[in-house]
Amino acid sequence: STGVETLEFQAEARQLLQLMVHSIYSNKDIFLRELISNSSDAIDKLRLESMRDKDLKVSLDDPHIAIELDAEARTLTVRDTGIGMSRDEVVSLIGTIAKSGTAEMLKAMREAKDAAASQELIGQFGVGFYASFMVADRVTLVTRRAGEEGGTRWESAGEGTFEISEVADAPQGTAVTLHLKPADAEDNLHDYADEATIRSIVKRYSDFIAHPIRLGDETLNSMKALWARPRSEVEQSEYNEFYKHLSHDWTDPLETIHMRGEGTFEYEALLFVPARAPFDLFMREGKRGVQLYVKRVFIMDDCEALMPQYLRFVKGVVDAHDLSLNISREILQQDRQIRVVRRRLVKKVLTTLKDLQAADASKYGTFWGEFGRALKEGLLDDTDNRDTLLELLRVTSTHGDTTLKEYVERMKEGQTEIYYMTGESRSMIENSPHMEALRDKGYEVLILTDPVDEVWVEQVPAYDGKEFKSIAKGQVDLGSDAPKDESFDPLLTWMGTALADNVKEVRLSSRLTTSPACVVGDAHDMTPTLEKMYRAMGQ
Ligand code: ADP
Ligand code: MG
Repeated sequence: STGVETLEFQAEARQLLQLMVHSIYSNKDIFLRELISNSSDAIDKLRLESMRDKDLKVSLDDPHIAIELDAEARTLTVRDTGIGMSRDEVVSLIGTIAKSGTAEMLKAMREAKDAAASQELIGQFGVGFYASFMVADRVTLVTRRAGEEGGTRWESAGEGTFEISEVADAPQGTAVTLHLKPADAEDNLHDYADEATIRSIVKRYSDFIAHPIRLGDETLNSMKALWARPRSEVEQSEYNEFYKHLSHDWTDPLETIHMRGEGTFEYEALLFVPARAPFDLFMREGKRGVQLYVKRVFIMDDCEALMPQYLRFVKGVVDAHDLSLNISREILQQDRQIRVVRRRLVKKVLTTLKDLQAADASKYGTFWGEFGRALKEGLLDDTDNRDTLLELLRVTSTHGDTTLKEYVERMKEGQTEIYYMTGESRSMIENSPHMEALRDKGYEVLILTDPVDEVWVEQVPAYDGKEFKSIAKGQVDLGSDAPKDESFDPLLTWMGTALADNVKEVRLSSRLTTSPACVVGDAHDMTPTLEKMYRAMGQ
């Protein structure tokens, strides 16, 4: 049948669309980048799928993206020869938002103080296809999935519902037609039916796209892979646009790393450290930000073989010259050369961060605030780079914010260990009776309140030869003898019996100065926070 069905957007999609329709974001030009990026992805997917499935009946000649303008009808169409979508795919991919963190993002948006704050939030999220509704009051999409007979037509004004119907004669790929809102200087709406406007937007945001973007007979983009160009010839602004294309972030990256490996295994890498953590940094399981290319041809997203989990926030591209285009994730994981590349990339990222720390403490502080928790995971997973990671660590202590190096520099004469205490909050730790004797002696104590702190501090034995020592566990040797006063023996025996169900031992301590008693864990016991964590996980 060719009947038209009206369906509702998923609630979260509806909310996001509302934000687009009411245009809270000031840079409207980027809608085109989003559409072109989808088209480019679709062409890449088609090539990959035709390689996997030799029987797939598809057209692979002249993959390209065409932009069509109709000044009279005031429409702009972005057409591609990519993989297209089936009817069900259109409904689920365009009608819902599968991205994790959407609900959190929308909540944060509602609570945002002002327009600038909400722009920042939406910029971190990456709205993709829905950006069309910033510049159009109606959007039509016609698509046919490669290998399928019939096509699908989707249309919406961005308010609550969309219409979907079958079309008999759609070409393979996708065409998105925007019915443009009138140009409005005040609202930053340029005339998107104007050729010169479109030419300059494509040049600015999508020059490096690997497939031709055409306006009539003219190809608008240079298609030069940025990573393959010499560093000296690339402007930072070009790196920034490329980063935004890759990451869907609307903010410039904090650091750009462009490197080349020569010799038996040649590769180019272009990596970015974002300025801000994405919403789903701690939700999305294990997805890495690095794409693999082989000689300019896109192979895969989220290449886990090239970046460890704890550096999942690093975005970028690695183009390896000597791999097969058919390479699988499994084979990559075992490839010795790839492991060498990965080790080099990790080292380079970490030294870049160390340089940043030395050069610009406040910028590094920003980085640490966003990604510090992820780096701490590296203290557990990446023993090769543990020393570097310990140098990168920023912690709070009774002295203030500090690095371990600074802590060691302030260590007291005769102090041999790095004292720490873990707990739920700073005030809880500072007011703990365990703190008394240390404070009395003027020893500095690390105040570790992040749940992951509990874990690394147990597993990392030492920094710079100084062991980490919990002040809440076992015996803390502060250089003074444990008090010996036999007159307390009867009291200790009595207390030991009375509390036998609750404690292992009652002993005299030199660690208290004003509190009469405190409970300490055995040196190898779990801390209360860890116990709580495990209990919460049902263990
Ligand atoms: P994202 O690109 O981040 O996934 P979008 O909102 O831009 O988010 O697009 C949502 C999904 O819709 C894409 O992941 C893709 O599966 C599908 N899609 C969008 N545009 C196209 C297109 N031109 N061809 C094929 N699929 C598309
Ligand atoms: Mg997209």
